Amino acid sequence: MNQQAPATYHDAATRLSFETRAFIGGRFVEANSGRTFETVNPATGKALARVAECDAADVDAAVAAARAAFDKGSWSRMAPRERKKTLLRLADLMEAHREELALLETLDSGKPIADALAVDVPDTVETLRWHAETIDKIYDQVSPTPRDVVSLIVREPIGVVGGVLPWNFPLFVAGWKFAPALAAGNSVVLKPAEQTPLSLLRLAALAAEAGLPEGVFNVVPGFGETAGAAIGRHPDVDCVSFTGSGEVGRLFLKYAAESNMKRIVLECGGKSPAIVMADVADLQPVVDQLAMGILFCQGENCSAGSRLIVHEKVKDRLLDQVKQTFSKWTVGDPLRPETKIGAMIEEGHLAKVLSYIETGRGEGAKVVLGGRRVLEESGGWFVEPTVFDGVRNTMRIAREEIFGPVLSTLTFADAEEAVRIANDTPYGLAASLYTNDLNLAHGMARALRAGTVSVNCYSEGDMAVPFGGFKESGFGGRDKSLLAHDQYTETKTIWIQLR
Ligand code: NAD
Repeated sequence: MNQQAPATYHDAATRLSFETRAFIGGRFVEANSGRTFETVNPATGKALARVAECDAADVDAAVAAARAAFDKGSWSRMAPRERKKTLLRLADLMEAHREELALLETLDSGKPIADALAVDVPDTVETLRWHAETIDKIYDQVSPTPRDVVSLIVREPIGVVGGVLPWNFPLFVAGWKFAPALAAGNSVVLKPAEQTPLSLLRLAALAAEAGLPEGVFNVVPGFGETAGAAIGRHPDVDCVSFTGSGEVGRLFLKYAAESNMKRIVLECGGKSPAIVMADVADLQPVVDQLAMGILFCQGENCSAGSRLIVHEKVKDRLLDQVKQTFSKWTVGDPLRPETKIGAMIEEGHLAKVLSYIETGRGEGAKVVLGGRRVLEESGGWFVEPTVFDGVRNTMRIAREEIFGPVLSTLTFADAEEAVRIANDTPYGLAASLYTNDLNLAHGMARALRAGTVSVNCYSEGDMAVPFGGFKESGFGGRDKSLLAHDQYTETKTIWIQLR
């Protein structure tokens, strides 16, 4: 990574200009109502900009533009290899603007600039390239018919795709949705989270520069109850892909039922276990992965490994090392390149995380590291890495998604108990497992009820593997991999009777 001196990022941040208007039908426009809302820097608590506050009227305009583009066919019927070229141009443009996009991401979300530069921006570029590259290599099917019939099974773009997006990975998760949706030939209407609209609005300008036709890529910043619900309820939106809380995810199922039965795909977080067996010889690599699992992105990560489930024989030794390693994850100004933990997204979320820490104490668990708000003088919303020992799986801190750098430690006596505790949750997004025994690892990986099980690492895998959840972690499909294309395409049978 090309890291600059800290002052340079602060300087660069002061020189940034923000695009604050919605992007509808190929143009930047103010909200129809003229209203705006404030977006705030979580590291300072200060306003960054006022952004167009789109509501149902703007969503109507964006969906109409998206539908018109889809029907016109300038994108939806373009030869796949031409769509590929356009998307690859967008990926190149993103790469050329990587520092600007990373700075926008850091200022708006509070995440460390080191992560925005090394993960969020390049991984979004990679997502775009991966899906662009697939689209002229996916074949349809010819079915086995009698000789007087030719029958094709073809996949067609579903139409207008809504993306309702979270604040923890504003560009990256948007890319998981728009890259396969656009590659397949759809038009998209994206609603960034109200906390983090800036990077996606900048991306809209790059999409136009890359040559995406008018109306194919639309961005409507605004609040969930207005703009988000309008996308969910819109009769001319064919599919909504959502990432966020389970509570709002359920609303999308309701919106679909009450409107046009649009396809709904949900990714709704987790309470993911990290199981450490007693046979692990060297604990330090495990501890490094545990740190990544719960501290990366301030723990504001849907697949965070938030429940450490460790064999009782190694628990004390492991926790000693956890304390040492977690203490080295510097909480600080996200614009400083050495910062590893930035700010919580907003004041209300900081209060939620701190209140879970109090709840854990009240439930009888013991804080063995951290537990406090820090850097209050900055005006920002920072929490130190926090580790609980003595957690039982019935406690709220073991059952509910805290979405902060807070690890709950539970113990077990044998593999069966470990799997039972791990699976005893309404969620099922991810799990990780550490052992030297390959046979045990394989058996346990099959027994864990989670969409991704990583063994001897904390990982969601790369773009070639699907991502999504069992149980209340997900619904309707998977992000990433070729399976993502299934969300955004319809299957059509063409049955031709020959003479
Ligand atoms: P949220 O679910 O409220 O917001 C996610 C998206 O949904 C945003 O774009 C928001 O504007 C929109 N939305 C909100 N209310 C809506 C409504 N009534 N109708 C339609 N759209 C609506 O998430 P949040 O409030 O930002 O965070 C709350 C909790 O959700 C977090 O603490 C965390 O536990 C979880 N979360 C999970 C993820 C994830 O990656 N799975 C991401 C963000 C938040």
